[in-house]
Amino acid sequence: MVTRNVFLPVVVAALGLLLAARPAPAACGETGVQLQILGSGGPGASSGRASAGYLVWVDGVSRILVDAGGGIKQRFHASGADLEDVGLLALSHFHPDHSAEVPALLWPGGGGLRVAGPSGSSAFPSLDDWLDGLFGPGGIFRVLAGRLDLDAVTVDVAAGAPAEVWRDGDVRVRGIGVPHADVPTVGYRVDVGDVSVGFSSDQNGSDAAFVELVRDVDVLVVHLGGAETSTGRSAELHARPSVWGALAADAGAGRVVASHVSTSSPQVLADSLAHLRAAYGGPVTVGEDLLCVPLP
Ligand SMILES: [Zn+2]
Ligand SMILES: [Zn+2]
Repeated sequence: MVTRNVFLPVVVAALGLLLAARPAPAACGETGVQLQILGSGGPGASSGRASAGYLVWVDGVSRILVDAGGGIKQRFHASGADLEDVGLLALSHFHPDHSAEVPALLWPGGGGLRVAGPSGSSAFPSLDDWLDGLFGPGGIFRVLAGRLDLDAVTVDVAAGAPAEVWRDGDVRVRGIGVPHADVPTVGYRVDVGDVSVGFSSDQNGSDAAFVELVRDVDVLVVHLGGAETSTGRSAELHARPSVWGALAADAGAGRVVASHVSTSSPQVLADSLAHLRAAYGGPVTVGEDLLCVPLP
């Protein structure tokens, strides 16, 4: 009896540790298709938000990761996602708030992965150059050179038409160049059966070809970044909120997710949302880290 009394708490504690070590269940549900926002922030201080990153869950499996800015590794693991389940990493562009956490996410390596991203310019590397500069034999993180099996697919941002970057069963992903000043940038559309989500990435909203790509999507993720009064370089980089609203209305998007929140000021955010909502009559979800948005 004495022995039992001594060891029972030890057994209970060990069981507790075992249970605590189990992976968390998929936070977005075991069936259906969901968009999960990993990071709802942008480059600036934005009240603890991670920078850009999104997951598409299909029947409880984390299939697609779009962008991986600062803070995404922590959010990725908090979401219950598994890198081995991810078939596609779709990178929009090589501003650090969209891509800087890729090495941390892929460390310590293992497994295969398709990576999609933009062609280059005189100021920005192509996807191939970027991957080689990080993970090639002479790359910064060459410690990963032999540990990764990356299958790179480049989207020619000057093509003016969408390119398919991944297809697996009824999952289809297409990308197209979008106008983000002089930064080669890709917007994506993910279709899973008859549901769909569009990812604008950072852009100024001036190219009708992107509107065509995301025509009638169930959910359109737009990136706030410019104020309604922005001019000059800022206006070349980022659509004004009213432009986002008009673009979403024009595309017939079923819901807008406003993300890439680049301010810590509730008032600045509220002003941006008011301008967006004035031009778009559908439902608007304000992005929050780890929020799940079901696709109908
Ligand atoms: Zn950005
Ligand atoms: Zn950017």
